[in-house]
Amino acid sequence: METQLHHVLELEQLTPETFLIHLDRQNFSFKPGQYAILRNPKTGEGREYSIYSSDREDRLSFLVREIKTGEFSRYLKHLKVGSELAIEGPRGFFILDEKSLNGHPLLFIATGTGISPFHSFVQSYSNLNYQVLHGIHFADEAYGRAAFHSDRYLLCASREDKGGYFGRVSYYLKEHKVDENLICYLCGNSDMIEEVTNILESNGVSPENIRTEVFF
Ligand SMILES: Cc1cc2nc3c(=O)[nH]c(=O)nc-3n(C[C@H](O)[C@H](O)[C@H](O)COP(=O)(O)OP(=O)(O)OC[C@H]3O[C@@H](n4cnc5c(N)ncnc54)[C@H](O)[C@@H]3O)c2cc1C
Repeated sequence: METQLHHVLELEQLTPETFLIHLDRQNFSFKPGQYAILRNPKTGEGREYSIYSSDREDRLSFLVREIKTGEFSRYLKHLKVGSELAIEGPRGFFILDEKSLNGHPLLFIATGTGISPFHSFVQSYSNLNYQVLHGIHFADEAYGRAAFHSDRYLLCASREDKGGYFGRVSYYLKEHKVDENLICYLCGNSDMIEEVTNILESNGVSPENIRTEVFF
């Protein structure tokens, strides 16, 4: 697995807790949906982050939520423009298969920064037949919303009535039956993934059509 040093081009604060880190891409090649391990080049410490940017861009971007008690996300937040970060990868299998790329109806379900791989999908492939459910607490956490077609995007805000749906993605899915032929991609925290997988399976979606990426 290759590790290479990349330079920080920009840190873009989206909300008090969440930011985008943009790096020079160099020759880093990946499939949309994959993640990389970002490492402190001095200590070797690192964590996994899904790639937010598309495979068409010159820069490599990651969407990071700062965890107040977390070591690495706070280290990333305080990086200066021009400093170096080691990137190992790409890694992972949360990528679109032939059928998904060829017009099959897809359901993307994300919580929080779990929107990253979906952002990379829609920015990389222009003809996907998708719907996305993005679960967040407050409406200002609708990271990357502009990249999604407004008819294909539903914001599920659980703590204020300002999204398209007031409640968690799992509540939405309990109230709205999904087509059993959908291929579903789920990304975010493990509680959401477990709950939503059960709901989808009880709707008749087969386990091989439920693909998951667990963040924590
Ligand atoms: C495949 C994969 C892809 C990932 N992609 C992303 C990504 O695109 N963006 C991103 O922000 N994180 C992502 N993560 C999580 C990331 O790797 C780190 O775990 C996270 O940034 C916390 O690191 P830390 O050192 O600050 O906290 P740590 O000291 O490692 O953890 C502190 C606590 O925070 C919890 N925690 C970890 N991640 C989160 C989170 N996102 N929200 C709430 N609590 C959390 C942990 O369970 C732990 O209890 C991904 C994880 C995996 C496995």
